[in-house]
Amino acid sequence: MRYASHIADLVGNTPLVRLNSVTEGIAATVLAKVEYFNPGSSAKDRIARNIIDAAERDGLLQPGGTIVEPTSGNTGVGLALLAQQRGYRMIFVVPDKFAGEKVAVLKAYGAEVVMTPTSVPPEHPDSYYSVSDRLAAEIPGAFKPNQFANLNGPRGHYETTGPEIWRDTEGQVTHFVAGVGTGGTISGTGRFLKEATDGEVVVVGADPEGSIYSGGDIHGYLVEGVGEDFMPATFDPTVVDGYERVGDAESFAMTRRLAREEGLLVGGSSGMAVVAALRVARDLPADAVVVVLLPDHGRGYLSKIYDDDWMRERGFAVTTDSETTGSLA
Ligand code: PMP
Repeated sequence: MRYASHIADLVGNTPLVRLNSVTEGIAATVLAKVEYFNPGSSAKDRIARNIIDAAERDGLLQPGGTIVEPTSGNTGVGLALLAQQRGYRMIFVVPDKFAGEKVAVLKAYGAEVVMTPTSVPPEHPDSYYSVSDRLAAEIPGAFKPNQFANLNGPRGHYETTGPEIWRDTEGQVTHFVAGVGTGGTISGTGRFLKEATDGEVVVVGADPEGSIYSGGDIHGYLVEGVGEDFMPATFDPTVVDGYERVGDAESFAMTRRLAREEGLLVGGSSGMAVVAALRVARDLPADAVVVVLLPDHGRGYLSKIYDDDWMRERGFAVTTDSETTGSLA
């Protein structure tokens, strides 16, 4: 019989699929690495596994231990899955502005969620930074993964994401494009591919307009999980050959096209990365192979990017069914 012993054993080995519709007019092959095939529906399962494996090896996590992390996003789901498998207690500290479905997901996996007020500065004792630090210090056997500083995150991508792309493209990959949040994905995957090709592979960071990585004005933006206003330890900018700066409107329009035209229901950072990948691919010859990483699933964005009213209220253009197919009424 062929089966996995636990759902957490299915992390990684996500497929590549060619983009066919949004690539119209492009000669190069553009392949999407679809990370929602991970059991927690995002690339973050990879870093959760690698961080926990390393913590166990280093003696930071022992049987009966507790994992404490301030996150409500994809990293939380990955950690919750791994904590279940390994028998750890899992506590997430979450600012109350994230109340709702994201928190419900973490609780559904059996994690404990401690809500903290959003409207206090980081140094305040009730802030989510302070509370998670305090819990990690007070609970015996507690471990804090600290995804923005833990180098075992990028190492997870170096050991899995990079080799998978190399194997599945049979060494023909010429360009790698990914968004940058903690920088773990692009640093680990990019470094592996650079080493595999003597530096030949071109690594391009997709960055939201407003983030620090790509330079220019620093301001707010709506695409989630990417861009930063500080330089995390997990990001190695020397791996990146260049950046493509992408605005919210373009990211969200592409996200919706990926669902409608390519059958890929993905999150906003995936749309952003594909916009960047298509800019990179536009002038490349037919033998170029551009791999773009799509970090997560679109189900978490149904009431946002995929909701016409949410889009219109924020001034983003929406193409409705009647506009694309003619009125059937
Ligand atoms: N997209 C989404 C939806 C994410 O949650 C993240 C992780 N913050 C990223 C992209 C960026 O990945 P990384 O942290 O590895 O740079």
